[in-house]
This record gives sequence, C-alpha cells and structure tokens, in this order.
Amino acid sequence: MGRKFFVGGNWKCNGTTEEVKKIVSTLNDAQVPSQDVVEVVVSPPFVFLPLVKNSLRPDFHVAAQNAWVKKGGAFTGEVSVEMLVNLDIPWVILGHSERRLILGESNEFVGDKVAYALAQGLKVIACVGETLEQRESGSTMDVVAAQTKAIAERISNWSDVVLAYEPVWAIGTGKVATPAQAQEVHLELRKWLQANVNAEVAATTRIIYGGSVNGANCKELAAQPDVDGFLVGGASLKPEFIDIIKAAE
Ligand code: PEP
Repeated sequence: MGRKFFVGGNWKCNGTTEEVKKIVSTLNDAQVPSQDVVEVVVSPPFVFLPLVKNSLRPDFHVAAQNAWVKKGGAFTGEVSVEMLVNLDIPWVILGHSERRLILGESNEFVGDKVAYALAQGLKVIACVGETLEQRESGSTMDVVAAQTKAIAERISNWSDVVLAYEPVWAIGTGKVATPAQAQEVHLELRKWLQANVNAEVAATTRIIYGGSVNGANCKELAAQPDVDGFLVGGASLKPEFIDIIKAAE
C-alpha cells in the first residue's frame, strides 16, 4: 500500500537544555533506516523547538505538541499555528489524551484545531483513543469513531494527517496494547475511513500506535498489517527510541 513507516517521539513536558542537547546528540549519532523507509519526527516542548530544529540531523523532523485553534492574538499562554509556520516547524501533535482529559479539549475543539493547522500548511499527528472504562464497557470503537468523525467533518484533505491510536490505559502505564488489540482498532479505523471518507484515504492514511511502546515490544506491534508506526512517549527520551525507529525495517 506504500504507507511509509512513521515514528514520532513525544517528549511531553520534560527536559532541560542539557538533557535536550544529549537526546539530540544520541539521535544524530544513530544508524537508522533511510528516509525512504521511515519518517522520524520528534516533539520537544515549545521552548526547545528552535534548539532542536537547528541542531537535529536533517533527515529527522520536529513537531509542536499543541497549537492554538485559530489565528493568534489575545490568547495568553497559547502558541499559534502562525508562529509554528513562521519558525518552519512542519508538524504538530493535536488531540493528545493528556490535553483532552486534563485540559478538557472536546472532540469538536480538536477537530477545529486540526482543520486550522492543516489550512495553514502544518502536518498533523491527530490522536484518538479510549479510556479503560470505555474499553471495558465495549465502547472503544464508538469513542475513536466519534473522535475521528469530528476531524473528518472539518477537513477534506488527509494527505498531511497521521492518525495516532493511543488507548489512554496504555499511555505511560507500561501496559502496552497487545499486537492483536492494536491491529483490531487500527483495522476498524481504516474501515471507518473507507465508509465515511473514501477508499483512497483509508488505504493511504498512516495509522500509528501509541501507548507504552518500547524497544522490546515494538517489533511485534510493527509486524501488524495496519500498524504504520508509533507515537512514543517515555521511551522517546531514551536511547531505545533508536530501536523503535529500527522496527521500520
Ligand atoms: C504518548 O504520550 O503519546 C505516549 C504514547 O506515551 P508512552 O509511550 O509513555 O506511553
């Protein structure tokens, strides 16, 4: 199907200048598959974006972890899409569960953010995923479909979107989804795209998995036919991120 493997590293709200320089240096020294095989995007906190962008190897790219929902202005504490574009930041992560659940971002708000960021020329890693309670009540697919629908209703071009399936119960818990659990939801999401957007978007959109991915479990997950890569939190701050990138091979 020609979906290039995608590995994102979400550094979340972590790091000092020294720590960031160390991670960049580890990444820069790493032997990894070529850009034809894997797309690597790391996402430092806003304040470190220029440092990382200017010191990172050219075959790796950077993403912001969030952006404001519309044109910047009187929105204290926010960072606008225009600012990211101005700094040549190509990617942004939107709808991460920590923002949905802790900051109260609704499906509609996330959908608006995705639409605005795409319209201004950013590429988007759009996150969806269910809580443990939702999984146990059997509503996983309803939840991720509603999250995806709020995006699909607001955009017409999916070529700059990577969809990240991140079950909330797996994020930062060490409790990774089994390859079968990940594959099941990824396939359902692809079918949802086929039924509600179109066959081409379903076939070409990368659906990546996130939630306690590490160097030990990445290979088996990557072998699933509908797992097109990873969004990695904790392990992206460690040298094992290189092993996760190599899962693309
Ligand atoms: C994340 O925050 O997107 C994530 C997947 O975190 P972790 O890998 O630490 O579970």
